[in-house]
Amino acid sequence: RCLPVDRTNVQGIRQVPGACFATVDPTPVERPRLVAASADALRTIGVDYREDNAETEAALAEYFSGNVKLGGSETAAHCYCGHQFGAWAGQLGDGAAIYLGEVVNEQGDRVEIQLKGAGLTPFSRMADGRKVLRSSVREFLCSEAMHALGIPTTRAGTLVTSDTVVYRDPVYDGTIVEEKASIVLRMASTFLRFGSFEIFKAPNEMGVRSGPSYGRPDIKTALLNYVIRAFYPELLEAHGIDTTTAGIPAWQEGVSPTALPTEVYRAFYAELLRRTARLVALWQCVGWVHGVLNTDNMSIVGDTIDYGPFGFVEFFCPTHVSNGSDDRGYYCYRRQPDAVKFNMRKLAEALAPLLPLEESFAELEKFDEIHHDAYMQQMRRKLGLIRTEKEEDAALVADLLETMQATAADFTVTFRAMSDVTLTAGSIHPSSDDLSPTFQEAEANILRRLGGLVELRRTLRPAMDPSRVQMVAGMLRQGVTLEQMGMDQDTWQQWLGAYKEYEKVIGLTASEKEARDKELWRVWLTKYARRLQKDAEGLDKDALSQWEADRRALQNRSNPKAVLRNHMAQRAIEEAERGEYGEVRRLVGVLSRPYDDDHEERDCLPAVDTKPLVVTCSS
Ligand code: AMP
Ligand code: MG
Ligand code: MG
Repeated sequence: RCLPVDRTNVQGIRQVPGACFATVDPTPVERPRLVAASADALRTIGVDYREDNAETEAALAEYFSGNVKLGGSETAAHCYCGHQFGAWAGQLGDGAAIYLGEVVNEQGDRVEIQLKGAGLTPFSRMADGRKVLRSSVREFLCSEAMHALGIPTTRAGTLVTSDTVVYRDPVYDGTIVEEKASIVLRMASTFLRFGSFEIFKAPNEMGVRSGPSYGRPDIKTALLNYVIRAFYPELLEAHGIDTTTAGIPAWQEGVSPTALPTEVYRAFYAELLRRTARLVALWQCVGWVHGVLNTDNMSIVGDTIDYGPFGFVEFFCPTHVSNGSDDRGYYCYRRQPDAVKFNMRKLAEALAPLLPLEESFAELEKFDEIHHDAYMQQMRRKLGLIRTEKEEDAALVADLLETMQATAADFTVTFRAMSDVTLTAGSIHPSSDDLSPTFQEAEANILRRLGGLVELRRTLRPAMDPSRVQMVAGMLRQGVTLEQMGMDQDTWQQWLGAYKEYEKVIGLTASEKEARDKELWRVWLTKYARRLQKDAEGLDKDALSQWEADRRALQNRSNPKAVLRNHMAQRAIEEAERGEYGEVRRLVGVLSRPYDDDHEERDCLPAVDTKPLVVTCSS
């Protein structure tokens, strides 16, 4: 109603100019069945789900495979463009997701629902519009896991699989395998992305590949106004614009919508910048790597969107790459803020001249600071620094990450162990000797999880595969430049640093390595204990024990114990592929309470005995 829809019902894949959506029906699948559902997510659209009610499960499978249409639903696919790995890619989505519509729930919230993997749309390009079971299990589980972690995200209501066969080359070696078409019901306040605004992009200097709706400022204004009225109404209120009477004007061909005041557009951009910078900080604070931070995977409301080759860092490495096709480490753990900032710049360009570039770029300049503040705020919670903020905290966090890297420590386990560090009640200014027994437990906990060289190797891959470093070094000796190899100087320096560390450690015996790890941790834990000491400064005995209890409680609410590690997802996938859905369902429960203490070891530890799993885009 508010945005133009292409209703020509022309079958087939095509450019769709002058529209934000094109109507299309989901393609039915054979024998749909429910793999798992999230009762919590479904509740937000008024669906009451209890496990093991065969009738409910069959109904959910019919509706949320796309085989049966929901009453009132007008199905459509959204047209968007994007910059992928820094390069303009033109019209590229949504070839794989079909909107069912919007649900207004009992609280009055609007929830958009869509089926990912529901079949061909006009935007499917060379692909089939389907998703397979392995990628759908990952999207389904991680959406719900991130929500439970308190990180803004799209949700997943159901996961349905079928007997419809699709063909994939899962390891990119030319071996085609048959897989099962599977569908995830996704839910969000909106699925509009930065890329939704890039459909208006002008052709480049060579005159090629504009967005399909280039030259339609009317649609651009309508789209931006819609986003602000629907999802940022508080900004209109703040500027004295009455949203209740103004409503959201319906789209009318040939009638140009009136632009909102520039201050409102600027306030929108500033707010989205704040949300996005904070979002990345939250990812980094749980050791999460998105994997495909293209502009089309950036939500216009600041949610985490599109779960593909994501990963939780295990043995910590700042250049950890989760996406097996990201050879250059473009979207590695450490580069995520820069990648997202680049995307915010592309959004600014897409919004101009409605929002002049001088104005958006002035906001963009604040990105690093906002990100740093959000990152440090969350890190302080994770470290239990509840009373004080100090400049030195940034160095303390950086040292912690370095210690983790040098000792191949698991990110999640290490942070969780931090609340084991306690100060002896009453001894407010202990000497370092007094301190040492208080963090023995944490030290033991961390060291227990450290292992030998196997883990170290894993840390360094694929960010730093020793044989790749040797190969690049060899090429450099032969006069090939980094640029010719498509690698940036910064990444190469990181690889080299990691390689030197690797060489140093590989020469040590197991007991030498253990002694070295212990020493590194003793140094860091002493710094940490001193900092905790300062946080507690001035408290009397009673207040100190209260402080300790509050701090540890906050830490355990900020440092998850169970996250979706690749090996956990993989086990659930392998069982689901055999038709057993128990493990996926069990994980829904486990991941819905990540901060609880009573999880089983298999849900809290890295797998040390398997090869790292390689996951890539768009399956
Ligand atoms: P992604 O890299 O996962 O963000 O995918 C980029 C775009 O490729 C998506 O927006 C989809 O429109 C399209 N796409 C991905 N997988 C498929 C598929 N199986 N069939 C059709 N289009 C797809
Ligand atoms: Mg995507
Ligand atoms: Mg994707």
